[in-house]
Amino acid sequence: MIQSKLPAAGTTIFTVMSSLAQQHQAINLSQGFPDFEMPQELIAHVNEAMLRGQNQYAPMPGLLPLREMLAQKVHELYGVSVNPDTEITIAPGGTLAIYTAITTVVRPGDEVIVLEPAYDSYIPNIELNGGKVITVPLQTPDYSVNWPLVAQSITPRTRLIIINTPHNPCGYVWTREDMQQLDQLLAGKDIYVVSDEVYEHLTFDNRRHETILSWPNLRSRAFACYSFGKVFNNTGWKMGYCIAPEPLMKEYRKVHQFLCFSCNTPVQAGMAAFLHNKDHYLQLSAFMQEKRNYFLDLMKGSRFTLHQPSNGSYFQVMGYEQISQQSDLDFARWLTEAHQVATIPVSAFYQQPKDDHMIRFCFAKKNETLEQAAERLIKV
Ligand code: PMP
Repeated sequence: MIQSKLPAAGTTIFTVMSSLAQQHQAINLSQGFPDFEMPQELIAHVNEAMLRGQNQYAPMPGLLPLREMLAQKVHELYGVSVNPDTEITIAPGGTLAIYTAITTVVRPGDEVIVLEPAYDSYIPNIELNGGKVITVPLQTPDYSVNWPLVAQSITPRTRLIIINTPHNPCGYVWTREDMQQLDQLLAGKDIYVVSDEVYEHLTFDNRRHETILSWPNLRSRAFACYSFGKVFNNTGWKMGYCIAPEPLMKEYRKVHQFLCFSCNTPVQAGMAAFLHNKDHYLQLSAFMQEKRNYFLDLMKGSRFTLHQPSNGSYFQVMGYEQISQQSDLDFARWLTEAHQVATIPVSAFYQQPKDDHMIRFCFAKKNETLEQAAERLIKV
């Protein structure tokens, strides 16, 4: 009998809800992926690269023209210089970039701080490396960081803290003050940071994405992780990257080269060509903010409670306390079966059982999809 390395893990809630959605022909606002087309121009660039013969292994850290474009983007957006040769590695998706970073620094017995609710891969990734998960709850209703609690959770065994801004599932966007707090808290301590910034281009109401890269004392200890799928509406391509200072990146690449060696070559070539036009990423926040506004307008007639509009990402959490007292998992199942709208229960993002009676909606959908979903949700 095989002994599980992840005894607590089942099939992820995203898979469960998506297949329940299919079974009940429900509108799927559960899993985080857009139902509109990705940019055709990017498809054309990848096609051209394939036809040109860029079909063999890419260099282990990724195609240099792509890394150069990314360094340029980071410089233009955040005024930060990153060396494309030594500080950027292309990864097969944001999830694997995060796993690789965690594996690079976490040893058995190390403590890792995770702010909950949290993206569901972090905790199993820590456990696979023998790390001990220390969870710190974010504070409702806005899901901001409880800094005194984070400070109390640090011990001499703390090796890593994982942060995520803009936040999935709650849409909280870190402020300068949040980064300042982290900066002060980690000063003089031997603690690394994994900064999950896959929604960096989706911030609303004139909020700026606060990247860890622009805080020198944090940057020196950080692995910043990104995803192209989240940016260019092609989550199925599974392509991302990690930025870290050279000494950290050197160790990261040792792990990366034996996990995957390198990533899809024509996709990297296409991405490099596509990134030349800055509008492709500069317009994303406005586009997604409109989707959020449209969804919230449509939901005004419903009995779901908006505690806090999403400030970033492509998710909105809402309460259902006026509708039901069921657990969020039971409620999400019932909503799929009885009203044909699939969502994600927020308790799925906690390791410890915690139920705020909130569910997560993904609003990265065509207007018709949002309209049809809202029509059903208003009747609940
Ligand atoms: N981090 C967060 C917070 C995410 O929501 C996702 C995607 N669901 C990822 C990382 C992973 O991105 P990718 O699909 O590129 O692996």
